[in-house]
Amino acid sequence: MAAEFVGTAALVICGPGTAAATGVIARSTGVPFSMAQLGVVALAFMMVIVAMIYTIGHISGCHINPAVTVALAASRKMAWADVPRYLGAQFAGGIVGAFAIWSILEQPGLDAGLGVLSYAPGHTRAAFCAELIGTFLLVLVVFGTTTDGRATPGWYGLAIPSMVFAVITVVGPVTGAALNPARYLGPMIARAALGGGKGLLWDQVPVYFIATFAAGLLAAAAYAFLGAVGPAPATTSSAGHRPMPSRKPDRRAATDRPGKRGITMVDATAVRAWVDEAAQLVDDNAQYLTHLDAVIGDADHGTNMRRGFRAAVIMLDEVPTTTPGAVLDATGQAFLANLGGAAGPLYAAGFRKAAEAFGPAVNVSAVQFGVALQAALTGIQELGAAVVGDKTMVDAWSPAVSAYQAVINTGGGLREATGAAAEAAERGLRATATMQARKGRASYIGARTIGHEDPGAASTVLILRALAATIAYAAEGSTVGAAPRTPLRRLRG
Ligand code: ADP
Ligand code: MG
Repeated sequence: MAAEFVGTAALVICGPGTAAATGVIARSTGVPFSMAQLGVVALAFMMVIVAMIYTIGHISGCHINPAVTVALAASRKMAWADVPRYLGAQFAGGIVGAFAIWSILEQPGLDAGLGVLSYAPGHTRAAFCAELIGTFLLVLVVFGTTTDGRATPGWYGLAIPSMVFAVITVVGPVTGAALNPARYLGPMIARAALGGGKGLLWDQVPVYFIATFAAGLLAAAAYAFLGAVGPAPATTSSAGHRPMPSRKPDRRAATDRPGKRGITMVDATAVRAWVDEAAQLVDDNAQYLTHLDAVIGDADHGTNMRRGFRAAVIMLDEVPTTTPGAVLDATGQAFLANLGGAAGPLYAAGFRKAAEAFGPAVNVSAVQFGVALQAALTGIQELGAAVVGDKTMVDAWSPAVSAYQAVINTGGGLREATGAAAEAAERGLRATATMQARKGRASYIGARTIGHEDPGAASTVLILRALAATIAYAAEGSTVGAAPRTPLRRLRG
């Protein structure tokens, strides 16, 4: 709440403060107000938002706008219980920020309006549309860039302020471009308290308030429509719908073609190829996994997983492994020895339980492979005690295992079953967004995990995608495990 307070105060000091300072300059020099001045005011708003996003985004989310907070709560991205506190902090920050403008610009700043906004009386419809449309665009960008795991990580800090800049230069001449009830009310209250209350148009408050809050809700609904997750894409390389970042279109394009004949048995080479492929995918997406973990955890999941898989690849190069079980056992050992955090021991348990299920077999059938997948899930659940709905990797593993079994039970082969498992895991990952974390580090922040996907579920998707791709690739060629292997450590130092 302190972060929201400081953030909103900073917004008002720099945004409306620049507007007031422009007025002070205009009064002393006689410079007429033009797009040049408006542009600089808009730039000040933009820059302070960029700065505050990276200062408090990781603390409070940097809403600094009641319309944003209410829109997030309405779309269940945050708990309603937190809303009064957020709004209280924002409105208080807005008022204190306006007093701070006065402390800087003194009486001339007050005479120049102290950043108070109004529209020409009689133009209520235009003013309402200006605030409605402007705030709608702002909140739409907030939703698209910060609430959707498919968005390019990190760029919200440029995208949101850019939209603020662009909107202010359009609606500024009509309403002053509040786009934010706290930014609007703060200067009004401070000016009234400082004796500059004459000329304040209190009857305009409902127009600004209704337009901005309504716009937030409309933008939330609009993004729910725009960003709706449709049926799972048929391939992992669909350019239009990218459920999560993945590697660039590449050699794997070949695996999207249906194979002439599927493989029926899996040997050590195939499992080894799976581990290599998973290592590569995790390496490509490490930043993404860390980004997800930064939002609800401690920003180490990508680093952890990369370290684990790199160690596994090196270990498999050094220790001769001739059975599927031996490959997974070595992978589990590498994870246990090299990967800290919650995910290390959990994945290690999964790999080693799967290895146990394989036993000493040199070739394992699709049915045995399914038994091993189930064993991995059981191992993860025995150690972590998480069930479906707790917002963990179990939410990806569990539907994946069921989907795999369902295909096998209806006579399907390895290729279909692993493909179905990867798709089910991905749907499971999507579903974690609406859950509240009940296990692991993320559970500490409770309801604030709602709206964000679970990093462990995301790494499970990558691992199962790697499995599906490896099997599909093997189905294409004549040799099992022929997926081209790029030794990880040679590719990236
Ligand atoms: P840490 O949380 O210690 O930083 P990581 O960031 O590497 O470890 O892994 C976090 C992931 O571990 C979570 O996203 C979640 O999927 C998974 N996880 C945490 N606790 C459990 C648990 N008890 N059962 C299953 N998975 C869990
Ligand atoms: Mg972590």
